[in-house]
Amino acid sequence: MGGIGSGSHKQSKGAIEDGEKLDISEFVKIPEFKERVIKRSKSLSGKYNWTDKKTGEELGSIYFMFKCIRDNIFLNLQYSHTNCFTGEKTSMNYDIKLITLNRSNRGNIYLFECPQCKTYRGFKLYNAGSTYFACRECLKLNYRSSKESGKYDSICKWFGNELGESPKDIHYSLKQLFS
Ligand SMILES: [Zn+2]
Repeated sequence: MGGIGSGSHKQSKGAIEDGEKLDISEFVKIPEFKERVIKRSKSLSGKYNWTDKKTGEELGSIYFMFKCIRDNIFLNLQYSHTNCFTGEKTSMNYDIKLITLNRSNRGNIYLFECPQCKTYRGFKLYNAGSTYFACRECLKLNYRSSKESGKYDSICKWFGNELGESPKDIHYSLKQLFS
């Protein structure tokens, strides 16, 4: 769980941790969302972060910007993705389309369109060590199972912290053990 704060694109890009999720309801709660995004008057940007529930420490963050292209609303995300095994960093910058469902007199509902399959529409997108945020189905295709991938990631991180080794060395050692 985390929150949304003010941020600037000029700041260094955020970095995300595995197991993060994006929740559209968090964005809809931003006071300026209605005025700027729904009325398409101005872009809306900021920082979305995940914090440790106990310590309040920031675990990961992304920079986001809502923008309108023709009649569509897109959520642009920018963050740095670190491969747990190789330590390789990738700069991510891509758009997620927002789907508007009109409920006549009860207002609109906003959903994310999965940037991978472009067919799933839902309130949440996930990241399980993947470079992109995606729906659960897409993550299942990329990983044998999200549980397995989560377990592997935490082992990798734990070893790295305990032994003071780089993720690349940990990956090599794990490969020797499990292959
Ligand atoms: Zn998908």
